[in-house]
Amino acid sequence: MRVQQEHRHDHRRLGRELDLFDTDPLMGAGLPYWLPDGAAVRHALEEYIRGVERRAGYQHVYSPVLGKRELYEISGHWSHYSEDMFPPMDLGGEQVVLRPSLCPHHALIYRSRARSYRELPLRMAELGGMYRSELSGVLGGLTRVRAIQLNDAHIFCTLDQVAEEARSALQLIRRAYVDLGIRPSRFRLSLPGPGGKYVAAPEMWRRATALLAEVLDSSGVEYEAAEGEAAFYGPKIDVQITDGAGREATLSTVQVDFHQPEQFDLHYIGPDGAKHRPVMVHRSIIGSVERAVAHLIETHGGAFPAWLAPTQLEILPVSDAELPVAADLLRRCLDLDLRARLATPDQGTLAARVRTARLVPYQAVIGPREAAADLVALRLRDGSRPDPLPTADALARITARIEARSGEL
Ligand SMILES: [Zn+2]
Repeated sequence: MRVQQEHRHDHRRLGRELDLFDTDPLMGAGLPYWLPDGAAVRHALEEYIRGVERRAGYQHVYSPVLGKRELYEISGHWSHYSEDMFPPMDLGGEQVVLRPSLCPHHALIYRSRARSYRELPLRMAELGGMYRSELSGVLGGLTRVRAIQLNDAHIFCTLDQVAEEARSALQLIRRAYVDLGIRPSRFRLSLPGPGGKYVAAPEMWRRATALLAEVLDSSGVEYEAAEGEAAFYGPKIDVQITDGAGREATLSTVQVDFHQPEQFDLHYIGPDGAKHRPVMVHRSIIGSVERAVAHLIETHGGAFPAWLAPTQLEILPVSDAELPVAADLLRRCLDLDLRARLATPDQGTLAARVRTARLVPYQAVIGPREAAADLVALRLRDGSRPDPLPTADALARITARIEARSGEL
């Protein structure tokens, strides 16, 4: 488990050394699996995102990862995006495909009920699976995968609401970056370029681009326009990150789409009693969970903020005599929803166990004095060692820091 300095920034190496994720040739290239510690980080991240979205008025849905080929013909994916899609599967006379995006499913969910202007903006969110038939030569780690868990949402709204919804989405992204300790490398207004496959509707592109430029201008962020980076159905704001090797990638996006509401014939009943067409704002706060975790691993070198750490508190009894007290502390931690682990004396000397757990934010050493007095001697990851505290006070301090998603210990 020794983390070597020169490979600090390679999430693939860290992922294996820290037992976060791995791959198996029998599962296939680009199809990593998550080990318990990686799954704990991912779970904390997903819960965080769902909480942020709930508080911002999003409603969560689930939709299947498969759909009929016709669904993607209607959405336009089939004609504009099929080289990135897995081939269809024949199933009793019809063809189904692994979905390349969640938008068509959400459009159908929107369409499944009569909608009034009073329901808008309707913010529909899902952390859902999607698939991309990447060639095996480009696959690696968590950044280029064939099975993607996407933090996705679609806001169905009136034309008047688009700018405000897109602006709020951009704010959510920037707020999340602060909580996660991620620094955007730049903001990009992604436009269509020559030779790409784009929906042909010049007026629609002009309006959507003007809206996104207005959002960026009023948000006060510096950005660059880039041709050839738009989605096939519309322009987008991309939030770019850079990895340890200097490679840039898109993590978060906000997109304005007039195309799919048209394709799916979406409407809402306006105050005038007539049918109107909504606009779809597509947005993702952290993009794919895989890429987000890869970036978090590299950003923090495996030393995650306490609220994301796979193990938040390592319990270290000095000798077997303190085992019952240590086991009791573990129970109390689990009851508080803390991710705690007990490293027993048979796993090595105290110094060796402290070293093994050096990426764990909090270590609780329990010697004879602490055991007798219901005290905990905390060692923090940053090297500081506050005076021993009553156990309840130590746990209150830790849970408060975690609940605040504090970067400090
Ligand atoms: Zn979408």
